[in-house]
Amino acid sequence: MSKHNMASSNIINGGSSSLKNLQYQVVKSNRKTLALYIRQQIAIVRCPLRASKAEIEEFVQKNQSWIQERLAEERTHEKQKLRIEDGKIILFRARELSILFREGRKERILINGNKLIIQNHKLNSHKAKIQIEKYLTQKAIEYIIPRAEALAEYLGVRNKITKIKLRKTKSKWGHCTSKGVIQYNWLIMLAPYSIIDYMITHEVCHLLHMDHSRRYWDLVESICPKYLQYIEWLKKHEHRLWFD
Ligand SMILES: [Zn+2]
Repeated sequence: MSKHNMASSNIINGGSSSLKNLQYQVVKSNRKTLALYIRQQIAIVRCPLRASKAEIEEFVQKNQSWIQERLAEERTHEKQKLRIEDGKIILFRARELSILFREGRKERILINGNKLIIQNHKLNSHKAKIQIEKYLTQKAIEYIIPRAEALAEYLGVRNKITKIKLRKTKSKWGHCTSKGVIQYNWLIMLAPYSIIDYMITHEVCHLLHMDHSRRYWDLVESICPKYLQYIEWLKKHEHRLWFD
């Protein structure tokens, strides 16, 4: 499942233009249709080499409210971005907890009321991030791997799994190859268990269907009936689970 569509292309014949206070960048390439993207508070129009200035302006004009909404959404996402620092808010299992750095010889993480306490000696943000990473990776090893294996067993495809990898990636929650290598992003351990279970299901079901066909979604639904709700949750909140 993709988190972002990180398309990139060369700027050919490109440049900046503006329309009624709206700045946008034009990227011409060998494509057939016009498309809009928002990247770091800049609207980008990708268009065919032969697109005229008037055609592009009309397209931008027509999509002005969409552009404004996306720009505002991007600003909100940036504000809500997870920062592992003392006093910052973390969305943990759908609850907003405040991060508390606590001095202590013993390295540990605990949840107490509405606090997520990170304890360590001479703690700083860098150290805390490493500690959170270790904590979530460990949780993923204990939770995701046995459940993915058990589900594959139940579906009769246990022998199709060659490896289950845990990695932090910026663009995906999970991935499954035709060679049976399943990958999960351990950041998903910040999400509620229902969401984690959906992700486990999503990738394991690919062992039977390597696509997103109706047959595939029917299988997902038979294991995870509320999957549409979980996809919605992810769309709405996933930007709050990533930190760098
Ligand atoms: Zn998929």
